[in-house]
Amino acid sequence: MPEFESLIYEIPEPHIARIWLNRPEARNAQDTKLLYQLNDAFDMAMQDSSIKVVILAAKGPHFSAGHDLREPKVREALKAEKTVGSWASDDWEGAEAAYAREKEIYEGFCRRWRDLAKPTIASVHGKSIAGGLMLIWPMDFIIASEDATFQDNTMFMGIPGVEYFVHAWELGIRKAKEFLLTGAPITAQEGLEAGMINKIVPLEELEEATLAFARSIADKPAFALKLAKDAINAAYQAQGIENVQKIAFNAHHLSHTHYRLTQDGSMLDREFLNNFRGRSKKD
Ligand code: ZN
Repeated sequence: MPEFESLIYEIPEPHIARIWLNRPEARNAQDTKLLYQLNDAFDMAMQDSSIKVVILAAKGPHFSAGHDLREPKVREALKAEKTVGSWASDDWEGAEAAYAREKEIYEGFCRRWRDLAKPTIASVHGKSIAGGLMLIWPMDFIIASEDATFQDNTMFMGIPGVEYFVHAWELGIRKAKEFLLTGAPITAQEGLEAGMINKIVPLEELEEATLAFARSIADKPAFALKLAKDAINAAYQAQGIENVQKIAFNAHHLSHTHYRLTQDGSMLDREFLNNFRGRSKKD
């Protein structure tokens, strides 16, 4: 099996590939390298004709703390990768730098992963915050343990939602507004009731329950699975997801620019963020 620095790629049983996020010491925070490795791992599963279903799971106490906001030299990190979209270049100034980077590694990857040909399952436990949602929401199914919680905390940073803006599709209009505007976490049970989650199981049963669910798909013809997924995903397009995504992504970047122009420290609730990461205010 291939070796990834921040992931584990394995085939636990025939027809099923499983990718583990494996930065537990960083609560699986996503740096640029991890996202490109994840994209490579998905591609590997797509190109392996023996694989019918892919599971995305996480090592450590939490699924993902989101984007790694402490990643040094983000521009250099992106330049080191072979980009998959066409927004990024080596000549960025002003607002274009952040816009192009996020178009490539956040919004771009999420849309690509949503449309992967083969079915995908997120197997989720612990906390999933902001960018953490952007690994879960593009998957076709979400199996969650009872302890799982989900939160878009970008409002605490003066940002109107994560870069992959599908809140209304995941939660319904009214619950999405509550989720986004209060910034409060929701439980797995609330996610189930809103239609975001397929199944909730006890934490100790999560791995086996996810495999059992994967088996119930992997016993079907691979081509039919792809066609069925693609047909249901067409509903996103019919419901105008591309327009909503573009409007929200531009609003997201207006808020990034606003923050840089105002440099108002109160827009970033560091105490809140540090609380989650288990750090004191000082470090
Ligand atoms: Zn952003």
